[in-house]
Amino acid sequence: METHDILIIGGGPIGLACGLEAKKAGLTYLIVEKGCVVNSLFNYPLNMTFFSTADRLEIGGYPFPSIHPKPNRSEALEYYRKVAETGELNLNLFEEVLAVNPEANGLYTVSTSKANYKAKHIIVATGFYDIPNLLQIKGEELPKVRHYYYDPHYYFKQKVLVVGANNSSADVALETYRKGAEVTIVVREPELGNIKYWTKPDLENRIAEGAVKAYFSSRLLEIRENEVDIETPDGVVTIANDFVMAMTGYQPNFTFLKKLGIELSHDALKHPTHNPETMETNLPGVYLAGVVCGGMDTRVWFIENSRIHAEKIVAHITGKL
Ligand SMILES: Cc1cc2nc3c(=O)[nH]c(=O)nc-3n(C[C@H](O)[C@H](O)[C@H](O)COP(=O)(O)OP(=O)(O)OC[C@H]3O[C@@H](n4cnc5c(N)ncnc54)[C@H](O)[C@@H]3O)c2cc1C
Repeated sequence: METHDILIIGGGPIGLACGLEAKKAGLTYLIVEKGCVVNSLFNYPLNMTFFSTADRLEIGGYPFPSIHPKPNRSEALEYYRKVAETGELNLNLFEEVLAVNPEANGLYTVSTSKANYKAKHIIVATGFYDIPNLLQIKGEELPKVRHYYYDPHYYFKQKVLVVGANNSSADVALETYRKGAEVTIVVREPELGNIKYWTKPDLENRIAEGAVKAYFSSRLLEIRENEVDIETPDGVVTIANDFVMAMTGYQPNFTFLKKLGIELSHDALKHPTHNPETMETNLPGVYLAGVVCGGMDTRVWFIENSRIHAEKIVAHITGKL
């Protein structure tokens, strides 16, 4: 069985950054990713533009050239794939980590869908994009309800209801409206939320002119095959509907974290326990990196401010070795 200094769970931008940092320090490592390289980014909307400039998405000192002020999804896929290739990262794809168990000798045994490994240290860089926050209302199980959005073309001539008032909702509403969908947006709060500064006025103007219908201080009550009920300040409104785009955010895989033995805070945020200086969890030699660190608070960590986790972790490990 292979033994590594570090086994990194997750081949997202931050998992890759950890691999590059480990390599630079002369440590042996393996990155195990359950999907393709940067799987979350691959599943982002087709026309998605990052809010960060390219330099802030760079890892391992590799420059990220972009012809746009803010890079888009395709450029990011090119960049991270090229970094993995040029950096000759030790990366296994389409292999899921199922369990991590401590041994008496201080090593960890890692069981995946394909093999078993031993490692002195584990880095959990599993992100938060695999599990959507559910609406928990009647009809949510219908196939027309989507928690992920890809291409606006699909929604031409469709009655689309968008739930949420942040970046993803704004992008879905504007893109599908411009491809000929009839768009309604339902916002729990009295106004739009945290939206990219170049997108927000566009959506505000479309709402003001009535091109996109918006219900504020409202919530979706029930979804049926051809219509939905919305609770509004003026009472319950029923409108015809073909698709519900529930852009209500995502959450880390807490079941996986708990199975590993990582403690979570007891409040609604479920922060995974870790030392912010070293990123070490309550389990010795097991670290957290990237956006998984925020628990339910998924707006705290991004690529740009969590790249640093790679350096912190490897510095702690090499200090120990
Ligand atoms: C639409 C959107 C736009 C964003 N825009 C920006 C931006 O402009 N700037 C910015 O800095 N941040 C942005 N973010 C936040 C940040 O880019 C992402 O969350 C980023 O993917 C975080 O990187 P990560 O490596 O921590 O997690 P992820 O990229 O989610 O990587 C985690 C990886 O772990 C894998 N994995 C999970 N469980 C297992 C397992 N058991 N075994 C093996 N592999 C596993 C997953 O498949 C995934 O590939 C955005 C996020 C979203 C959703």
